[in-house]
Amino acid sequence: MSVSTSPEQRPPNSQQAESFPLLGQSLADLTLWVQQQGQPAYRGKQLYQWIYQQGARSLSQISVFPKQWRAELADFPIGRSTLHYRSAAPDGTVKFLLRLADQQIIETVGIPTFKTLSQKVGSSPFTDPGSAPTAPLDRLTVCVSSQVGCPMACDFCATGKGGFKRNLAVHEIVDQVLTVQEDFGQRVSNIVFMGMGEPLLNLENTVAAVRSINQDVGIGQRLITISTVGIPGRIRRLAEHQLQATLAVSLHASNQALREQLIPSARQYPLSALLDECREYVQITGRRVTFEYILLAGLNDCSEHALELAGHLRGFQSHVNLIPYNPIQEVDYQRPDEQRIQTFVRILKQQQIAVSVRRSRGLAADAACGQLRASQSA
Ligand code: SAH
Repeated sequence: MSVSTSPEQRPPNSQQAESFPLLGQSLADLTLWVQQQGQPAYRGKQLYQWIYQQGARSLSQISVFPKQWRAELADFPIGRSTLHYRSAAPDGTVKFLLRLADQQIIETVGIPTFKTLSQKVGSSPFTDPGSAPTAPLDRLTVCVSSQVGCPMACDFCATGKGGFKRNLAVHEIVDQVLTVQEDFGQRVSNIVFMGMGEPLLNLENTVAAVRSINQDVGIGQRLITISTVGIPGRIRRLAEHQLQATLAVSLHASNQALREQLIPSARQYPLSALLDECREYVQITGRRVTFEYILLAGLNDCSEHALELAGHLRGFQSHVNLIPYNPIQEVDYQRPDEQRIQTFVRILKQQQIAVSVRRSRGLAADAACGQLRASQSA
């Protein structure tokens, strides 16, 4: 597994102040912290291993620490959430509702892909239409949240309907990965920032969480995807962090008028400006961009939309990921039938655009894209 950012490149954690949770902090930060507590430096390594590998939830569990120190620090926060609700779909996808220290609830989804089927259908964690949960596990993808709720209010998305509460802290993002890993008893292989929230509105914590997930949890940056609806100037700012992660941009429309209809924030961010910023991202990072495109029957899934989309992306180092709409309660968009989806795919391919279809996972548990609303039922 490639760990693509060296520890030297990781900025010191500005959260390091005594009262911050320890999860999300690097080995160097934790070593400094134990020394501040009057302990020898080697206890930093022990702490690091217990937090990231042993899943310690309280310092009192760390049996290699001196008894008295453990007792003194028993209430010091490591920063783990508690499980509020868990629901598994027949395809093996598991949705977790996690309770944070301030009682807010967020959603995280664990998406297993199984060897036999995934080998047939390709390399995306989302292309497996109906895997058998008993087959050997090929990948375990975690769909993480970056905010409690979401302020973007995209019309097709359940999270937006519930409003916005706050950004997640670094430890609250890293915790989601450890929680899924522990629940499945398997190492997580891929991360997608496609849960609740808009990661680029919480950019610094998202970047710090990516670095911690990479260096401390051990997941290669190239296996991490950050999905954004696009916030002016923020894609450029993300590029300047020079992560090796993949950027996915939620385009969802082939022209400005249609995009504004679906995504209120698009009014402040013309499609042409968004695409220009994506081009800059490719220039700065040398990495291609994925464009996500929800297919809504009769609305944005016609041949002319496919042609219009192809027109924007010709010659652009990119990839289109089509997402057939997952139903939510409040709106009555429809998912197109398979034939329409395949026609859209065929047109893009004819136009030399790289394209894949994301198959819904976890629909039965309301755990598919856009269905997360931090409540136990839809
Ligand atoms: N705010 C980020 C990430 C969150 S959602 C973003 O907008 O990209 C992750 C993906 O799920 C986005 O592409 C989002 O548009 C998509 N999505 C939202 N609602 C959906 C729905 N009902 N059906 C299918 N995909 C949906």
